[in-house]
Amino acid sequence: MNILVTGGAGFIGSAVVRYLIEQTDHRVVNVDALTYAGNLESLTEVEGSERYAFEHVDINNAAQMQAVFERHQPDVVMHLAAESHVDRSIDGPAAFIQTNIVGTYTLLEAARQYWNGLKERAPEKAAGFRFHHISTDEVYGDLEGPEDLFTEETPYAPSSPYSASKASSDHLVRAWQRTYGLPVLVTNCSNNYGPYHFPEKLIPLMILNALAGKALPVYGDGQQVRDWLYVEDHARALVKVALEGEVGETYNIGGHNEKTNLEVVETLCDLLQELVPSERSYRKLITFVADRPGHDLRYAIDADKIERELGWRPEETFETGLRKTVQWYLDNRQWWQRVQDGSYQGERLGSL
Ligand code: NAD
Repeated sequence: MNILVTGGAGFIGSAVVRYLIEQTDHRVVNVDALTYAGNLESLTEVEGSERYAFEHVDINNAAQMQAVFERHQPDVVMHLAAESHVDRSIDGPAAFIQTNIVGTYTLLEAARQYWNGLKERAPEKAAGFRFHHISTDEVYGDLEGPEDLFTEETPYAPSSPYSASKASSDHLVRAWQRTYGLPVLVTNCSNNYGPYHFPEKLIPLMILNALAGKALPVYGDGQQVRDWLYVEDHARALVKVALEGEVGETYNIGGHNEKTNLEVVETLCDLLQELVPSERSYRKLITFVADRPGHDLRYAIDADKIERELGWRPEETFETGLRKTVQWYLDNRQWWQRVQDGSYQGERLGSL
């Protein structure tokens, strides 16, 4: 099959592209605008493959997106391109509205036009066509009680410009099915972590700051709870949903790993102490800083449906996944040092 992946130079998108090229026989076209978060160095393992192609295109460009559809004739679209960092959405929401909402609309229209054309000239291919939209559990807002879980039926209540823009794109995708019959699937996933994660996000930021002997800034009291999923488990789940999920359905994806932010940082400090022993405990670097405005207290996913219906389960526990992640950052200094020399030096974002 021909699989069109948007945002394939990003953290999760590159894991999906690597998985598709290394573990399946499908062809992949990666459509990415290469914003600050896009990095082709995350794809060096696959760039030589005959089954891989890269299109340097912004999903907001309708004419170029139509040309990409015509050139590559996809059977499946996996839409990951987005502005993805909550703190940046607080500092500058415009890019989130543009890419996550208008960009998704533009992509949906390009897909619909292409799919309508397929119905005329290749009805069998049109019948199998799928548009998979990749979203977040943040659209549900935060949970009240310590036992509550987000299910596929939880009402939307986004808190940040990021999550509101993702919620909006989810609504557009579902409306394109209801109104135009476009065959769509939606997934909502919890926090990911793993290799090739841009160092503005909690886990890589803490690893790199700790290695540099810098403060480890924990927002508020660090008691915010997130459900953590290793990125390669997410990539496997996404490919399963894209290829085997039921059209029109939503699947929540989570790792059964609820941790407070403080627990995450302390676990990282202990792992680093074991792998790169330091005379002064890394935990001493933990510094509490002003909380993020509008910070959600707790997210947790009920991933029962995808496990029951598609037989997907995470392979990594938080402990095994975190160990692999820390080891990856220790073994791949060149990747993150180039990112640090370029667009991001570890500064605080989104504090108003
Ligand atoms: P990322 O920020 O690492 O990567 C985003 C990619 O999209 C980059 O390669 C960037 O260049 C590209 N991009 C941005 N704007 C574009 C545009 N206008 N046109 C084409 N490409 C563009 O993001 P990520 O963490 O890999 O997240 C991927 C998707 O998964 C997002 O839709 C995000 O909302 C969702 N998601 C992320 C998480 C998480 O924990 N990171 C969890 C659940 C869902």
